[in-house]
Amino acid sequence: MIRDRTLLRPRYTGLTINSKPYMLCATVRLYDWMQWSDKGRFHRVSHAANRAVAIPEGYRLRLPGPTFVPERIRQATARPIVNHRGPEFRAMLADAEERLKPIFGTRNRILFFAASGSGMMEAAVVNIASAGTELLFVSHGQFGERFATIAQEIGARFDRLDMPWGSDIDIDAVAQRLREKTYRAVFVIHNESSTAITADLARLGALVRDTPTLLVTDSVSGLAGTEMKQDEWGVDVVVSASQKALMCPPGLGLASVSAKAWEVIDRGDHLPAFYWSFKRALASLEKGETPFTPAVPVVYGLLEALDMIHAEGLPRVLARHRRLSTALRDGAAAINLPIFGTGRNLSSTVVALSVPQALDGAAIVKALYERHRTVIAGSRNRLSGRVIRIGTMGDFDDDTILTDLAHLESVLADLGHAFTSGAGIAAARASLAASIQR
Ligand SMILES: *Cc1c(COP(=O)(O)O)cnc(C)c1O
Repeated sequence: MIRDRTLLRPRYTGLTINSKPYMLCATVRLYDWMQWSDKGRFHRVSHAANRAVAIPEGYRLRLPGPTFVPERIRQATARPIVNHRGPEFRAMLADAEERLKPIFGTRNRILFFAASGSGMMEAAVVNIASAGTELLFVSHGQFGERFATIAQEIGARFDRLDMPWGSDIDIDAVAQRLREKTYRAVFVIHNESSTAITADLARLGALVRDTPTLLVTDSVSGLAGTEMKQDEWGVDVVVSASQKALMCPPGLGLASVSAKAWEVIDRGDHLPAFYWSFKRALASLEKGETPFTPAVPVVYGLLEALDMIHAEGLPRVLARHRRLSTALRDGAAAINLPIFGTGRNLSSTVVALSVPQALDGAAIVKALYERHRTVIAGSRNRLSGRVIRIGTMGDFDDDTILTDLAHLESVLADLGHAFTSGAGIAAARASLAASIQR
C-alpha cells in the first residue's frame, strides 16, 4: 500500500494532512514503531511531548539524584489518574505508608506532600521554628547550607555550626553548642550529597534524647539506600523525597514526625504554614487522604518501588548500596581519582571524587556526556571543578559501576590524566569479588 516508506519518514506529517489523517498517521506510527523497537530504542516510541527533544540513545542517568527510574516503575506511573479522595487511592496511600515505615525505621505516620526535597526541607523548618525559640543548623556541605538558608529566608532564629566540607560531623562540637544554649531543634543532613559524607544520627540522637531539643534530618538522598533507624536513634523529624534511592520520578515528598516533635508542633507557636503544615497533613492522613492533590503517578511508582525493595529485602538493598559504592571508590582510586575529603562516614548512595589539580571536573562531566551519554554531577558550589560525583543509589548493579569506570577511563585518557589503563575496572572487580553478596 505504502510504496515508498521513506516518504513517510518525516514523522507525523500525517497530523497535518487533511485527507484520512488518522489512518495515515497510524500507519506511519506503526511503521516507525516497528523500525525503532527492532533496534531496542524504546525511548523513540514516545508521545508528542517527547518528540521535540530526543533523549539520546544510550543515555545513562548517573547523578546523585534524580536517579534512573526502572522500567516497571516508569510503567506504573502511567496508570490512569484516579480520584485522590476515592477508595482506590485511599488503599494505595495506606499501603505505601505501611511499607515505607520499615525503610524509615519508624512506627510514626508518614506524611505525603507534592514536593521536591527542598520543599520538604522548608516544611521541616516552618513546622518547628517559632519566633521565641532558636534552632541550630549543623552543616558539612551544600545541602546543610541550604537548610540554614531556608531558615534565614523564612525568618527563623538560628545559629550555625559549620564543619569543613568533606569532613565528618564533629559530634563533640555539637554537644558543646547544646550545653551553651537551649535550642528547640538541631537540623542536620543525613547524607550530604555534595560531599558524600553521612551524619552519625545515632550519636546525634543520643545527645538530644533526654532533652527538650529535637533532632531534624534531611534524608532525601539517604533513605532506602542507607540505614535509617528513626525510632531507635531518636530522630524526631525525617524528611525525604521520591527521586533518589526510592527510584521514582521527582514530585513526592515524605515526612515522618515523632511523638516528641508532635508535642512541639501542637504548641501551635510555629512559623506560619499552610501548604507545608504537618498538622493539616496528619488530619487528612487520618481520613486516608492528603490535604491537597498529591502526585498520584509518583505514588503509583512508589508502590512499585516498594515491591522491588521488599522483594530484594531491605538489608540486602542497603548492603548492595554499600558494596557497590565501595567498589566504585576502589576503582576510582586505582585510576588516581581519590575519595574527596577526610571524612570516614562515607556515603553508600553517592561517591564524591577529588579531581587532580591538572584537570577540570566540569571537563570530565562534559566529556562523559558527549562521548558516552553518561550523566554524572560536578559541583556548582565552592568545590566547583574540584569534585565529581556519581550516584550509587536505586536500581544499579555491578555492571553499572563497571560501565561508569570504563567510561571514566576512556575520558580521562583523552584528557591526558596519568593512570594505568584498565586499573580502575580491575580494582573494582577485585573489590566486588571480595564482597560477594549472599
Ligand atoms: C537531592 C537532595 C535534596 C533535594 O533537592 P530537590 O532538588 O529540591 O529535590 C535535598 N537534600 C539532599 C541532601 C539532597 O541530596
